Amino acid sequence: MNRKSGYVRNATETIERACEHCEWHAVGDTHPELAKRYQDHLRDDHPSVWLRK
Ligand SMILES: [Zn+2]
Repeated sequence: MNRKSGYVRNATETIERACEHCEWHAVGDTHPELAKRYQDHLRDDHPSVWLRK
């Protein structure tokens, strides 16, 4: 997937995903993108939670 090189989407069109286990959150354009980022975060920061999935 391309990086957002100079491409800025209207803030109102973004969606946010918060972590249930810490203060982490991410903002993205699509639910699949955010879901992937959240999974990556779980794997890195909450491996015990990640392994239960
Ligand atoms: Zn977290």
